[in-house]
Amino acid sequence: MLDAAIVGGGLIGLASALELARRGRKVCVVDAADGARASWAAAGILGPQSEVHAPSPMLELCRRSFALYPEFARGLGAEVGFRPCGTLHLAFTDAEEAALVEQRRWQEQAALRVEERSQGGRLALFFPDEGQVDNRRLLLALREACLREGVELRQGRAALGSAGLGSAGRRSAGLGSAGLRLQASGIRSEAESIEAREIVLCAGSWSGQLAALPVTPVRGQLLLVDAPPPACVVFGGGGYAVPRGAQTLIGATTENAGFDATPTEEGRAALLLVAAKLVPGAHAVVDHWAGLRPATPDTLPLLGRLPSGVIVATGHYRNGVLLAPVSAQIVAALVEGKPPPVDLAPFDPLRYAAESESALEDPT
Ligand SMILES: Cc1cc2nc3c(=O)[nH]c(=O)nc-3n(C[C@H](O)[C@H](O)[C@H](O)COP(=O)(O)OP(=O)(O)OC[C@H]3O[C@@H](n4cnc5c(N)ncnc54)[C@H](O)[C@@H]3O)c2cc1C
Repeated sequence: MLDAAIVGGGLIGLASALELARRGRKVCVVDAADGARASWAAAGILGPQSEVHAPSPMLELCRRSFALYPEFARGLGAEVGFRPCGTLHLAFTDAEEAALVEQRRWQEQAALRVEERSQGGRLALFFPDEGQVDNRRLLLALREACLREGVELRQGRAALGSAGLGSAGRRSAGLGSAGLRLQASGIRSEAESIEAREIVLCAGSWSGQLAALPVTPVRGQLLLVDAPPPACVVFGGGGYAVPRGAQTLIGATTENAGFDATPTEEGRAALLLVAAKLVPGAHAVVDHWAGLRPATPDTLPLLGRLPSGVIVATGHYRNGVLLAPVSAQIVAALVEGKPPPVDLAPFDPLRYAAESESALEDPT
């Protein structure tokens, strides 16, 4: 019997599978592989201090994950473009400058490193303890590392069969097993069952389709432009610029468009305005795409166990690339019945409602 069956082969699911396999666990990852995953679409910024606006458990979670990155990246045996190169925050207006002043104030109070710079006669801030990774290379390297460690990677759309969900009581007695139903993508065949001691839900924006969790998709569009890459990630002008090889990523829109991951002309126009500020000059657009960020009402991830026994690691919203290493450690600890490396209370998947465990029936 499998120790864990993981639904979702994005960065969170694959990083969790790899961590478990390295701890000697038998793991399978099921992915619908429809190409819309956030992990492929993302910009790869690792910004624990950029994304959080006050000292909080989320800041600590992000910083812990960033600290894990050097070893996480090294352990994959492939070049994944991890660069702890820092991030530069620019201001173009008085209001943006005031926001930077406030950011520096609380971060210095919290003993975080912030360096003052100036650009265009305005305040700029440099955060040396941040960086970037090439999230696409990372995803491919994680897949390869999972295969080397004996993780079974399966393609198909999974549903949590209500009959297959072990009760909390059975699970805590260590006797339970739980089931996934798997419908192979594009093939009309009998649904297959996968039995595992633990089911781990890492289905990103689609997690709310598998269990009653408040995860909704928030579309983000990115441009790849043929501009010389900046020396580090640069924030400002309503977006950011990320060095990607010899080119530059420009991001990102934030839109409620349901599960529609199609890039739009409006998105492109908005991103070209950001590009004009951060990488001035005429640059050809090489690529333009969109992905769906898995958002929760308070923008914090959902990390923990549902009363049904299903382990949840989802809702990483803007920070799933950054949070992959620490999420993997949390999932592995929960599967092994060990204390998680951080207090999970602020990220409890049940924090919104008592009724978060009812699984939906497989529509197929
Ligand atoms: C434009 C954009 C820019 C971003 N930039 C950054 C950034 O710079 N830094 C950062 O840290 N984060 C960033 N993010 C956020 C980050 O990409 C996400 O938080 C992270 O990728 C979520 O990973 P995941 O594995 O949970 O989800 P996903 O990568 O979406 O993976 C979920 C997987 O679940 C599978 N799945 C869904 N339903 C089923 C089912 N029923 N059965 C089987 N499989 C299923 C899907 O096929 C998918 O592969 C960005 C996101 C976007 C869209």
